[in-house]
Amino acid sequence: MMIVAIDGPAAAGKGTLAKRLAAALGLPYLDTGILYRATAKRVLEAGASPADAEAALHAARALTQSDLQRADLRDAATSAAASQVASIPEVRQALLDFQRHFGNSHGAVLDGRDIGTIIFPHADVKLFVTASVEARAERRHKEFLARGETVNLADVIADVQARDEADRTRAAAPLMKAPDAELIDTTGMDADTAFTHALDVIRRKTAKLESKTFSL
Ligand code: C5P
Repeated sequence: MMIVAIDGPAAAGKGTLAKRLAAALGLPYLDTGILYRATAKRVLEAGASPADAEAALHAARALTQSDLQRADLRDAATSAAASQVASIPEVRQALLDFQRHFGNSHGAVLDGRDIGTIIFPHADVKLFVTASVEARAERRHKEFLARGETVNLADVIADVQARDEADRTRAAAPLMKAPDAELIDTTGMDADTAFTHALDVIRRKTAKLESKTFSL
């Protein structure tokens, strides 16, 4: 049973990479950002503030499968609110068991901000995927355009920067590279190159694990 933890800042291409790795490795995939986005959506729809700890905790506890499957979780307002509810320790705690249980059931590839540091500190493989702010914002901007949403690049850059800053500086489970995570900088890499490179890293790390187990 293998756990692959993928962390990194907003729009670094973690989702695309994690999905492909999961398919290649025959593992379930969990986008943990969805949990915070769906929590934020519930809070906003209840007319509460994403800074209201009680409302956010209530929303996190009430999440259902259909909340996670909503198609409208990626707009700018939900992204910003997700980052706000994610800074509330009680919300993170409420979502922790679900993530661990998901991974411990059949192994998994999970992507987020604190997978290798908090959720699965003993993951078999940890990747920290990043890219320059400009490269990340350009990719996110293209995704918006592909969905037919008109947003300007400067706004996307500002949103990505604001979320990174909030995610890195919060007290509860801040975004950081675990010391034993492999850094993958995808600036100037296309999705195929990032995938091949990540798969090489995973093969190298798991081969080491197997030989360690063998020699015991
Ligand atoms: O990954 P994504 O951009 O969808 O995540 C949305 C927000 O949820 C992030 O900006 C971050 O604040 C929060 N998040 C988190 N921990 C995770 C995944 C996401 O705090 N494991």
